[in-house]
Amino acid sequence: MKKFFVIGHPVAHSLSPVIHQAFAAQFDMQISYETRDFEPGNFIDCMARLRREENPVGVNVTVPFKEDAFAYCDEVTDRARAARAVNTILFDGTRAIGDNTDGVGFVRDVIGRCGVPLQGARVLVCGAGGAARGVVAALKPLGCAKIAVANRTHEKAVQLGVGLGVEAVTYVDTAREGWEVIINATSASLSNEAPAIPNVTFKNAALAYDLMYARQPTPFMRLAAESGAARVEDGLGMLVEQAAEAFRIWLGVGPETAPVLARLR
Ligand code: NDP
Repeated sequence: MKKFFVIGHPVAHSLSPVIHQAFAAQFDMQISYETRDFEPGNFIDCMARLRREENPVGVNVTVPFKEDAFAYCDEVTDRARAARAVNTILFDGTRAIGDNTDGVGFVRDVIGRCGVPLQGARVLVCGAGGAARGVVAALKPLGCAKIAVANRTHEKAVQLGVGLGVEAVTYVDTAREGWEVIINATSASLSNEAPAIPNVTFKNAALAYDLMYARQPTPFMRLAAESGAARVEDGLGMLVEQAAEAFRIWLGVGPETAPVLARLR
């Protein structure tokens, strides 16, 4: 049986095994998909052991190892290079080929499921980590009217902006302009906080989208709704879409995402 894993720390809570088994069932495929908790600081040894003992076809990589995975791979795709982070590895013989499906997962969820156009939209991305880089890289070819990035540590937003050719703004400055789409690509929700976005920034927002997902609306989602955003979404749809793209990379077939998302909800 073909074996797959999601690697993280902690990772026991991951929804990826359920998602990938639901995809496999659509094609009557039998796969093995398990979580594997790697010891932080020991990625290369843990991966060598996993490959030796389990011989996986592919792995997903989640927090905090996406940058380790990027450094580890023998070959990476352009979108992984733009994000400087790998969330999907395909093992081709002895070679590890790294990709990043987060950005395309986000775009497919926003355009396909939410029905919000990104072409011609003014888009604000909050955060400057791997997820923000992946989202900005995926937005770049779509013809947005403007893409700007804001981050708590402004210098990191500037670096991201220079690297990917978008403007860096401070959170305070975001109040001076109108934005149709505002994306929370920070991990602030993990500490039960919202990024310091002024209320007025949400005034014209057709969509406020938090990459995080939880049973309850996140602090960013509550802030956006209270501040007048027309629609507020969490990142569960993105999670399912990024998984579908990984499934396609490993197994060559594209699963239906809507029934899987409905089941998770
Ligand atoms: P990183 O650790 O690389 O980056 C974290 C970012 O969040 C940094 O920009 C950091 O700012 C900012 N941040 C952290 N805490 C706060 C706070 N209290 N207030 C304001 N900003 C804060 O994480 P990733 O980029 O890998 O992931 C970001 C989020 O996206 C995670 O929550 C992750 O779960 C989610 N995600 C969801 C996916 C999905 O499929 N739905 C896929 C990928 C990611 P600073 O630079 O100042 O430290």
